[in-house]
Order: sequence, then C-alpha cells, then structure tokens
Amino acid sequence: MDEIGFNIMDREALWLAPYAMHSCDTAGREYDEPSHPYRGPYQRDRDRIVHSSAYRRLAHKTQVFAGEKGDYHRTRLTHTLEVASIARTIGRVLRLNEDLIEALALMHDIGHPPFGHAGEDILDEFTRDWGGFNHNQQAVRIVTQLEYRYPEFPGLNLSKEILAGQRVRDKRRSDGPRLQPLLEVQVVDAADSIAYDAHDADDALELGLLEMDDLLAVPLWEEAVDRVKSRYAALDAKPFRRAVIHQILEMLVSDLVESTCRRLEVSEVASPEAASGSPTRLVAPSEAIFEQKSDLEKFLFTRVYRHPVILTERALAGDALREMFHQFSQFPERLPQSARARLEQDGVARVVCDFLAGMTDRFALEEHRRQKNT
Ligand code: MG
Repeated sequence: MDEIGFNIMDREALWLAPYAMHSCDTAGREYDEPSHPYRGPYQRDRDRIVHSSAYRRLAHKTQVFAGEKGDYHRTRLTHTLEVASIARTIGRVLRLNEDLIEALALMHDIGHPPFGHAGEDILDEFTRDWGGFNHNQQAVRIVTQLEYRYPEFPGLNLSKEILAGQRVRDKRRSDGPRLQPLLEVQVVDAADSIAYDAHDADDALELGLLEMDDLLAVPLWEEAVDRVKSRYAALDAKPFRRAVIHQILEMLVSDLVESTCRRLEVSEVASPEAASGSPTRLVAPSEAIFEQKSDLEKFLFTRVYRHPVILTERALAGDALREMFHQFSQFPERLPQSARARLEQDGVARVVCDFLAGMTDRFALEEHRRQKNT
C-alpha cells in the first residue's frame, strides 16, 4: 500500500507547477494522524468536508433566493458545486493542486447561516459584544470545533493550508502583515466571484426580478449578447438567455486564465512562498474585465440584492432569527443537548448563535412557527 500512497506525491511532482502547493509540503494537521495509504492529504480533507453535516445542510440554505420560489435557482449547495467546478477548471490549466482547490471550494460557504446574508447580519448584530458573526469565521469554527465526527479529535482536523485559506477570506481579521494566500485559495475566490456574478443574474431573470433588456445597460452583458447573436441567428428567449450566461462564464474564465498566466510568467514565481510574497494577487482578471465585472456587480447589487421582493424576505427572515435568538437566550435549557454542553465554555450568545447558524432555512422556519404556537 505504501507504494500506492507514494504514487500520489509522484504524480503531483510530475504534473503540478513549481508554484503549486504540493501535498508533500503540507504543514500537517493540528492533531497528528498517520498518512492514508492511497489518498493524499487534501483528498482526505475534501472527503471529510463532503461527509460533514454542515455541508449537507447547504442543500437547504438560501444563496440569494429562498427555496419556496421554485426549483430552478441556486441553493448554497449548487452554488458551491458550481464554484468547485469552475475552480477546478482554472486550477487544472494553471497546473495547481486540484485536490486542495476542490476542498477549499466545497467548504468556502459552509459557515453560512440560514437566509443568506440577511441571516448573517442579524447574527452579527446579536453577537457584536462577543466578537460578532461572519460566515468565513464560522466555517473555521465548524471544521475545528462544532462538527463532531471522529472520536479522536473535535472538528474535522483538516490540513493547515485549508484552514489558513479559509481564514484569509475573513476580511475583518487583523492578524499581522498581509501575505497573499496560496494560488489555490486565490483561484477559489476568483471562481466564487465568477459563479455568483453569472448565476445571480440568471436566477433573477428566471424569477422575473429582471428583464433581459435591463441587463443591456451592463457592458459585459451587452458584449455577451452580441457574441451569442453573431453565433446563433435566432434563439427563443430561454435558450438565448442560457447561451448568454454560458458566454459570460466563458469570457470571465478565459480572461482570468489568460491574465493569470501572463502575470505568473512575468513575475517568474517559482514556489508557493514566492507567490504569497507578491504585492498583489496573481490570480485576477485583466483590468478591462475587472471594470466590467464591477459594473455588473453594482447593477446586481441595486437591482437584485436590493429588490423589494428580496428586502421583504430579508426582513421576515431577520424577524424569525431575532425572535428565536431571544427565546433560546432566555431559555437555554431548550437548546439541544450538544449545544447545552458548550454553554459553560462558549457562553449563551455564542452557543445560540452557533445553533441558529447551523439551521437550514426550512428548519429555522419550522422552529420559529413552533415557538410562536407554544
Ligand atoms: Mg460563495
């Protein structure tokens, strides 16, 4: 079996670029574990994330649009899979560590509470005196403390590169001088941004919050529309829209790969450490596409994320979480046993926050309804 395990490192040595994170250079895990006979360390991390309950619950958590609106739009889970898919494509072209990329992508949104950013804002408000709430921080808390799957240690005992990559996403942290994260982490961030730009527009169109013509005010969209029209003479509305979304993804990913390759060539980075020392991120779009992407994001912000339908939903979700927060804070004995066991160590506010954050949208709504009726 040793022979098989050895081959994974060999394969990486043959295939990965010198600036990629090689499994053999991992800083290991907090709790020492023997290496696996035929899975590399990041492959194991990926598997542990996929088997966690926090990951499964992403299926019933809001990305932007709540579940009852239909079954076309993205949930947190399908968004996560789209990010992993885009990130692996980019990682493979750049010859980065795809196992590490996949693990990072699959856990990147694992800390999201129910009801998307509305839920996050409410939980942050209630825990402000105890360090606040942020989904990136919460992801680390889940995989280091809250998941309980193995008798030997709390959490998932993931590789240190995964934890560091997730910590970097927390924009509020202030721990010392900023180094750029590993290129694998940069790829996942870029893929996340590409995925939601394209798919939030698609979902908003499907749900009728936007019309195709509204988006013509956005240069990136207009360019994609022109390209689709020049390729297909006449398409019905739905296939046309899907072709435009594919075109946008294609344009954004190709631009990212091309401009990143150029930067890697010019900067001559020859190790993951050298890539971290670069003054700016090496995995980034060209300036022109960066501008166009920002225009699309500004448009989505005002026209979709601040749409009256979404704002009403946010307010209702906020009320439900607020009421449940007060209920459980006042009567912590109503928390499940696993949460009560943490009360002494973490305090009521944090434990209630963890419990609420772990809920899916539907569990939260049911629990809220139950509380109102008793
Ligand atoms: Mg995301």
